[in-house]
Amino acid sequence: MIGQIIDGKAVAARLRAEVAAAASALRGRQIVPTLAVVLVGDDPASAVYVRSKTKAAREANVDIRDHKLPATTSQAELMALVVTLNADPIVDGILVQLPLPAGLDADAVLRAIDPDKDVDGLHPTNLGYLAQGRPVFAPCTPSGCMRLLQEVGAELAGARAVVIGRSVLVGKPVALLLSNANATVTLCHSKTRDLAGEVRRADIVVAAIGRPELVRGEWIREGAIVLDVGVNRMPDGKLVGDVEFSTAAQRARAITPVPGGVGPMTIACLLDNTVTAARRRRA
Ligand code: NAP
Repeated sequence: MIGQIIDGKAVAARLRAEVAAAASALRGRQIVPTLAVVLVGDDPASAVYVRSKTKAAREANVDIRDHKLPATTSQAELMALVVTLNADPIVDGILVQLPLPAGLDADAVLRAIDPDKDVDGLHPTNLGYLAQGRPVFAPCTPSGCMRLLQEVGAELAGARAVVIGRSVLVGKPVALLLSNANATVTLCHSKTRDLAGEVRRADIVVAAIGRPELVRGEWIREGAIVLDVGVNRMPDGKLVGDVEFSTAAQRARAITPVPGGVGPMTIACLLDNTVTAARRRRA
């Protein structure tokens, strides 16, 4: 029997509609939720991502202020822009699109963002709140994972969750969010001794590795829920995830496809954080 294929596009559209309603309510009180997007250089993937953010923001009643800077921008110039945006009362959220061109220190830029405007949730203060179990802005892709788990009615308290990948962007915050929701979490990485064994015990598997189909379908426990964060472009141009989808889908109770699973949730959660920032700062 094939499990439920989780339609991330539909869930993200529902979340964007909720955000649009919340943003309209704020607009009714003369508060226009506004996100400043900083794009440095001309990385084509980042440009595509920024365009889709702009379109989604428009639909969600969130204003976007674009700041396009040349690849030759210095660290001091970029830091000065962040300082200006921090001080701008109109700006609720600041997003600096990563990766930055070589030579720019992304950590220093992220640390310079006012934590109250850190809608990406990557400032050490916000990661600290998340670690304390009282998140203000959680990182967007991990928040998207949690929303998908909620949508499929996952019972998290007491569940065995295995997260593969420990990046600050995805794996670690997913592990913290699951732990905050009372799952028993195992955080795996490239030095994990028996990855297959860990996955076999899991009620919930979150793969955020960046290795095509590294997680084999036969490792998935019957009835587990599988979220595949990985996006890997194959030589033929096709996108595949970190999980061997066809076999895993035979065993899982619910599973996200790639593309169309976790991916669409990220922007929706970014807009949700922006409206939260506007409400916290101004309502
Ligand atoms: P990353 O920073 O490269 O981290 C990858 C993690 O995978 C590391 O913790 C690494 O372990 C672990 N890993 C690598 N090889 C492994 C192996 N053989 N066994 C077990 N663990 C292994 O990547 P990321 O930024 O977290 O992104 C992960 C994937 O998610 C990528 O495909 C990325 O494109 C995708 N992604 C998607 C979205 C979205 O859909 N919106 C957002 C962000 C990322 P070590 O720590 O030991 O090196």
